[in-house]
Amino acid sequence: MKKGPLLYRGKAKSVYLTDNPDEVSVEFRDDITAFDGEKKAVLEGKGMYNAAVSAFLFEYLEIHGVKTQFIHMLDHRTMLVRRLSMIPLEVIVRNIAAGSIVKKYPFREGDVLNPTVIILDYKDDTRHDPMVNDDIIFALGLVTREELLTIRKTALKVNDLLRTYLAGLSITLVDFKLEFGRWKDKILVGDEISMDSMRLWDGKTKESLDKDVYRFEKGDVMSTYAAVAERITPGALHRFEAEKTVFSGER
Ligand code: C5P
Repeated sequence: MKKGPLLYRGKAKSVYLTDNPDEVSVEFRDDITAFDGEKKAVLEGKGMYNAAVSAFLFEYLEIHGVKTQFIHMLDHRTMLVRRLSMIPLEVIVRNIAAGSIVKKYPFREGDVLNPTVIILDYKDDTRHDPMVNDDIIFALGLVTREELLTIRKTALKVNDLLRTYLAGLSITLVDFKLEFGRWKDKILVGDEISMDSMRLWDGKTKESLDKDVYRFEKGDVMSTYAAVAERITPGALHRFEAEKTVFSGER
């Protein structure tokens, strides 16, 4: 398959067309950003770690009956995915209070949230991703009622699967963000599931194992990402390192 022109360049990933109109390739760059892009850096290797974790978790979800965009890896930082029509919603699932929910509401960091909280934000950096409710979503025509039900149900299923898998590695899934897109008549999980989009705490020490290390300068970001990627994707990283080929275009 051929790598085509750049379709979209996000803050940390670039999306390229391919010679198949139904598929695009997603390159995980080494850029890291926080606070709506106000804080940014380039950290060598970060793209590979996030790609490895995303690929592994997408496959894990597929095996357990959740439909995702993922097809397969093209190289250590690039995945081939179904070309979705993205829905501009950030679907945030929270098991434990941390981050913005502690700033906005009278929770204390570490409080267990019962019920699990789903927060929907309208994805728009220029508006700082404002929280939306169902009425705003329908008035904006973002999804139908049925699609929103599917999105909520899928988000909770993904939460159950990821929480259980990570708990087995002594990693607490505090919260995470999903994005969804339309593929033919289905809604699939898109974007990424990585240390940039999950908040993870070590089960014993409660140390941050995610982008909070970068956001709040809690330690060495790359050694945290490398270690957590190794924990989440046992063995897969070695394969990735060995396959450090440059995606040249023809495969
Ligand atoms: O910042 P906040 O506490 O609302 O983030 C909740 C979760 O959603 C965190 O895991 C964060 O990494 C993720 N998130 C994201 N992209 C955003 C906003 C939040 O991946 N634009």
